[in-house]
Amino acid sequence: MSGLLFIISAPSGSGKSTLVNELLRVVPKLEFSVSYTTRPPRGSERDGHDYNFVTREQFEAMLAHGEFMEHATVFGQHYYGTAKHYLEDARIHGHDLLLDIDVQGASQVKTSHPEAISVFVLPPSRKVLEYRLRNRNEGAHGLMEDVIERRLKEASNEIKNYDRYDYILVNDILEESVEQLKSIVVSHRATADKHQLTSEEQRLQKIAESCLQATNKNDSRIKEIVNSFTAN
Ligand code: ADP
Ligand code: 5GP
Repeated sequence: MSGLLFIISAPSGSGKSTLVNELLRVVPKLEFSVSYTTRPPRGSERDGHDYNFVTREQFEAMLAHGEFMEHATVFGQHYYGTAKHYLEDARIHGHDLLLDIDVQGASQVKTSHPEAISVFVLPPSRKVLEYRLRNRNEGAHGLMEDVIERRLKEASNEIKNYDRYDYILVNDILEESVEQLKSIVVSHRATADKHQLTSEEQRLQKIAESCLQATNKNDSRIKEIVNSFTAN
């Protein structure tokens, strides 16, 4: 079975890139949609691997040619977009596709592809998010104080939308979060494939179910995390 579309969103700094890289390492036949962006590369980011880094003119030309499945202006300054060809390519290869996009993009993709499976990743708290933003490899100078403040404010806005996603998870212990993401992918593949589940798939399905938005509706930890952002 192939052609499933997974969306992952999280506030910047919560560990999404780390999670995505680990997930791609442990789950076969899952391709990553390398977004196009007009923001400059950060730290050790590589063109064509982490992002396709383009100029504003290049991005606008692609937009005019209808090459994006979705796009958004993130942090009020840079364009980010998902090129349609990544989904077409994954389907040709018989693979599934993973998108790492923001809340605005996720909403556009859910509208055009309602079958897409969406996951929102929360940091353990506002304090931990701030710590991760400050300690992330940002190249020579790190993030400026005003940028950190802006990202934290943006995080509060993004987190307000967490309950619009199919799944919710807290990226506290990395190995656990990777296992949860893997479970979501594997259990959707098994369902789509309609085969008799192996005992390992049944185990992963239980983990995936524990991350369903509906299962976590009244979860006090999630409420506490969300409140740590919305109270500011
Ligand atoms: P994002 O892609 O969401 O902006 P990154 O993947 O760049 O975030 O992670 C931000 C920082 O947090 C990095 O320094 C990363 O090593 C660290 N990090 C990611 N996940 C965890 C985790 N579960 N526990 C501790 N640190 C983490
Ligand atoms: P960063 O600059 O920290 O890598 O990403 C900033 C935000 O942009 C993150 O929330 C990330 O998910 C989002 N993003 C990355 N690529 C895309 C994309 O192609 N489309 C949209 N809408 N958002 C994206």
